Amino acid sequence: MKLAFFNDFRLGIVIGDGIVDVSAVAEVPHTGPGNHISNQIGDFARYRTRLEAAAARGTAVPLADVTLRPPLPRPANIVCMAVNYMEDGTKTEPAPINAFQKASTAIIGPGDRMVLPDVAATIFEGEAELALVIGKTATNVKAADAMDYVFGYTCFIDGSARGVPAFYQMKSRETFAPIGPWIVTADEIADPQNLQIKLWNNGEIKQNFNTDDMAHKIARCIEWVSSVHTLLPGDILATGTNHRGLHAFQHGDKIDLEVEKVGKLSITVHDDLKRTWGRDTRLERAGMTPDTSPQLTGKYAKA
Ligand code: MN
Repeated sequence: MKLAFFNDFRLGIVIGDGIVDVSAVAEVPHTGPGNHISNQIGDFARYRTRLEAAAARGTAVPLADVTLRPPLPRPANIVCMAVNYMEDGTKTEPAPINAFQKASTAIIGPGDRMVLPDVAATIFEGEAELALVIGKTATNVKAADAMDYVFGYTCFIDGSARGVPAFYQMKSRETFAPIGPWIVTADEIADPQNLQIKLWNNGEIKQNFNTDDMAHKIARCIEWVSSVHTLLPGDILATGTNHRGLHAFQHGDKIDLEVEKVGKLSITVHDDLKRTWGRDTRLERAGMTPDTSPQLTGKYAKA
């Protein structure tokens, strides 16, 4: 099942190229879209049959005629794994397991704009990632049981302002957590460790890697994160990226992120300062200094 929010946060089920409004049947206690979806996820066994029946008898509206919204507008936690790919064999062993939190106020959805802040970052990048959606309260979960805690999956872009101190300033900027276009329930993804992830910038493919290259696999990530703190229904755990295709996000860019079997999330990039960078990826700059494309013009550019 593909669960989405659309228009003024109507709850919908996506079927093919259409969406069925199931808001009326989802008698989930809530005060807003954020806890609407998290309460639904946390008690999904109770709602699933009702939702499926409503989707079956409802009339689908073309997706092209609605505005999709972030499917998880306000999760309690967004946790992002750090350096969690083997980078196509260029790393000999996994980096020590590590993660960081991203402010949930950074979330945007399909069609929204990532806005580059007026800070002296060396470059702004967006990391293509598979995100897990947590299905039930997870504390000290063992890896062997961890997949039972996955409700589903969504696409996630980990916006990053490089060259500013610490993860907090780098990662929690407004609009730096694009997600969507919907949540795919876990039963639709037989093997989440074999999904191709592709990211295009203005139609040019930049990132193209498989989740089979993940350093610390999904079950271990859940085990480790849930040993640090409790994860709640509707929380997001982003599983990291292969850094080799990272490149500058800049004003006017159209970004498309596709995770196989999950869907395609499209956003745009806006920069009031209209700064420019080179278009090369980290892979294309291998061995060069700096290892990310330098800023070419605009405020903070080094003459
Ligand atoms: Mn990341």
